[in-house]
Amino acid sequence: MPTILLIEDNEMNRDMLSRRLERRGLTILIAVDGAEGLSKAKEHQPDLILMDLSLPVMDGWEATRQLKNTPETYQIPIIALTAHAMPADEQRARQAGCDDFDTKPVEFTRLLEKITVLLASRNVVFPT
Ligand code: MN
Repeated sequence: MPTILLIEDNEMNRDMLSRRLERRGLTILIAVDGAEGLSKAKEHQPDLILMDLSLPVMDGWEATRQLKNTPETYQIPIIALTAHAMPADEQRARQAGCDDFDTKPVEFTRLLEKITVLLASRNVVFPT
């Protein structure tokens, strides 16, 4: 069962997204700020990370930079999620090391497609 770490400080977004992903057969781990995201990624080695960028304690850009600079976590694909949809925001997220980028509010089918592609790149079979 693929495991996804969802790092999101907004409770409503977190609950909605985790429920929808669980319904698709994914195991969801939750972190509510960037620092907790880092420690849970190291501890649980998820197959993929969904990273909100505006986070308390440590923002998503910094958390991504640290994950991509850590031997135990650099290989975990990260999809940035943000309400900031300007091209510069996507560029900034990719420069921090995010593998993909999507905008909020989440369009679930599109996000699921991106998750499937990145999981496949790690040879994790998405359950159908
Ligand atoms: Mn946020």
